[in-house]
Amino acid sequence: MKTKTVVFLLVNLLAAIAFTGIGMAQAQSSAVAAPARISTVYTGDVINGKRVVSSLNTSDLAPGKKHLLYFQGVQMSTGQYWYVSVIVAKGAKPGKRFTLTSGVHGDEMSSVHTVQTVMNQLNPAEMSGTVMAVLDIARPAMESMQRRWPSSGRGFELTDMNREWPGNENGFSAVSRQAGLVFNRLLKPNTDLAIDFHTGTTGLDAAAFHIGDMRLPDVKTMMMLYPVPAIWDNPVYPGVLHNAYIDAGIPCFTPEVGVARRLDLDMIPIFVEGTMNVFKHYGMVPGAIGRTAVDANVYIGKNAIPVLTTHGGFIELLVKLNTKVTPGQKVAIQRNAFGEVVAEYSSPVNGLIGGLRSDATSEPGNVLLFILADVAPVPGAAPYSE
Ligand SMILES: [Zn+2]
Repeated sequence: MKTKTVVFLLVNLLAAIAFTGIGMAQAQSSAVAAPARISTVYTGDVINGKRVVSSLNTSDLAPGKKHLLYFQGVQMSTGQYWYVSVIVAKGAKPGKRFTLTSGVHGDEMSSVHTVQTVMNQLNPAEMSGTVMAVLDIARPAMESMQRRWPSSGRGFELTDMNREWPGNENGFSAVSRQAGLVFNRLLKPNTDLAIDFHTGTTGLDAAAFHIGDMRLPDVKTMMMLYPVPAIWDNPVYPGVLHNAYIDAGIPCFTPEVGVARRLDLDMIPIFVEGTMNVFKHYGMVPGAIGRTAVDANVYIGKNAIPVLTTHGGFIELLVKLNTKVTPGQKVAIQRNAFGEVVAEYSSPVNGLIGGLRSDATSEPGNVLLFILADVAPVPGAAPYSE
């Protein structure tokens, strides 16, 4: 190797180290510099009649009213911004500050509709406290009705935003920065208690259930106030929004409102009723508490045990959502193109069917179904991926 080439490589190596070092220093200084009380900053822009903020303190907003705002998120490649829709129902009297979120995954429409319906039922004039709704957090994923955020950083790639929280305003991707901006400047400073609404994902029909850690008293209280028939009592993965809240001292859980992509108008009302129950319980809205988990005969499982396909082929499901299964019970069969049976699947546990593959074919390794079960995880088995 020529000396000139060695020098060139060394310079590049040093530049790479310096670049990484600068990135880390910025990330650390931003974490240290986060202000205790955030100010509301209006950018001066108005979009479709809504004022744009780049940070928000809901205590700056007039009480007894609803406020519709856009939050300025991360920039796109064109230099425009991914704005996020924010509704604040500011009660006439002081009280708890709740935040409801949807759209962290882009194909989960019943979660958006649930939050919209709750916000329509709130009357700030008779409320104590504040409810903030942030409806479309992963906007670019929602624009194409897909779970993941499309990034251009290393060529086109798709990132699951619900593994990025609490994000990093100086992070190495737009989605990490969007999470950081939304969490630091909108969610965390305005929230005492939070609910992050989701649904199942494209390709998997899902039952109504909650994901949350019942060891946390407020999380247990909130989940049990819903007439929802199943709870996955588990903190699940690092990087999900509800765990970022909990790490910041803010109780939060994740309702799962049925299937992806379309509205489940039969299921949404039980999540609306439960959310209104929560507000009544915390003294924010008047009225009697409605049906709860006890009325729904709730099933509580510590784990969601997946059954993964072992072969490629055509799937025939033998069970339905919300049905109980027992160990060894046959749950699906799979055929090749000749119609020969190539695999038979059975339940490894006692539990409740929480999700079922909706596509009638599969290659090996997909979640064919998952079972909410009151057992420890099967060693080596991947958990159902929210
Ligand atoms: Zn989701």
